[in-house]
Amino acid sequence: MPGSREDFFRYVAQTSEQPMALEVERAEGCYIYTTDGKRYVDLISGIAVSSLGHRHPAVVKAVREQLDRHMHVMVYGEFIQKPQSDLAALLAANLPDTLSQAYFVNSGTEAVEGALKLAKKRTGRSGFVSFTNSYHGDSHGSLSVTGRDIYRDPYKPLLPNVTFLEFNNAGLLSQITRKTAAVILEPIQGEGGIIPAENRWLQAVRKRCDETGALLIFDEIQSGFFRTGRLFAFEHYGVLPDILCLAKAMGGGMPMGAFVSSPEILSVLKKDPPLNHVTTFGGHPVCCAAAHANLKTLLAGNYGLKAEKIESIAREILQADKILELRGKGAMLGLQLESSQLTEQVVEHCFQHGLILGWTLHSNTLIRIAPPLIIGEDLARKSFQTIRDAVIRFS
Ligand code: PMP
Repeated sequence: MPGSREDFFRYVAQTSEQPMALEVERAEGCYIYTTDGKRYVDLISGIAVSSLGHRHPAVVKAVREQLDRHMHVMVYGEFIQKPQSDLAALLAANLPDTLSQAYFVNSGTEAVEGALKLAKKRTGRSGFVSFTNSYHGDSHGSLSVTGRDIYRDPYKPLLPNVTFLEFNNAGLLSQITRKTAAVILEPIQGEGGIIPAENRWLQAVRKRCDETGALLIFDEIQSGFFRTGRLFAFEHYGVLPDILCLAKAMGGGMPMGAFVSSPEILSVLKKDPPLNHVTTFGGHPVCCAAAHANLKTLLAGNYGLKAEKIESIAREILQADKILELRGKGAMLGLQLESSQLTEQVVEHCFQHGLILGWTLHSNTLIRIAPPLIIGEDLARKSFQTIRDAVIRFS
């Protein structure tokens, strides 16, 4: 009988010619165990998802308890389901008043789709401004505002009226106009190569949005939930969005996303006509229970400090001639190397030595480092030393 490896390549649609194809047996904490008896340190948290590590006991317990109460009962928005209300209230308690209501979805791209539609309906405008090198997801709307041509070109025509400006260039902001429904940006670009926004630029974007009436959308799908040392990356800047997009780490390993805004802005989704933006599975009770336990655990555990500690260990160890830069904040880091060949060799060497690393989508000379925030100091040091040794060896 063919094993699951053969079935994977034969029956599961593939996203590239060369998937990593680790055959997973189980995962726990910082480790992924494979069917051939090996153990890998997950240094990218399943791409910024497993901030509390894999199968955190609090999340597993919440999922089990919710499974015993109920699973899906009704499409989103009709019935009162305690896990949804609890999660929304906990989010609101940790966000400013202007971000006190959440619309729950299942993924990052759905959060962005919701935010774009919300901005159009609220402003009555159709233009969007986005930035070069951004990544906002792969459905049509979010792809339309993703700033990389090679991903957009095969799917054109996409949404019209999207203007791309250079990230961190304040000189171009006059292109945000009274026709702009929203400006969308990642406060720290993830797939673009871990590029933080500059503080003065972000302040200027906010100011220009206020002058023109354009809404400001922050995509914190990758940077949220303490990954950068604060609950949300915007807290580093003191700049507030009108709409906040969340996903990835939100569900503690379960599929979960949200777009968050004020009750006033979100009210446009309930009328003219009613039910103009609905979802069957958004806010699934089991995922909301997981997300609630995840957030409660993160809030109680000093995870901001843990993310900062990861950064300081990384900055201490990851130094070598061929390391051009270590960018990012907290545990959202990118190691800029000199060439794609070196990057590939380092990632491969680390993989052979039990470390899972990866690229970002838009860059093949940058190694993504985003470990679970629970990683112990010893394991972090040992892992970063393996990376540094590999850079030196292949330089
Ligand atoms: N926005 C950002 C900033 C992301 O990093 C991602 C995923 N890499 C997305 C949106 C899309 O999220 P999803 O894959 O859950 O649709």
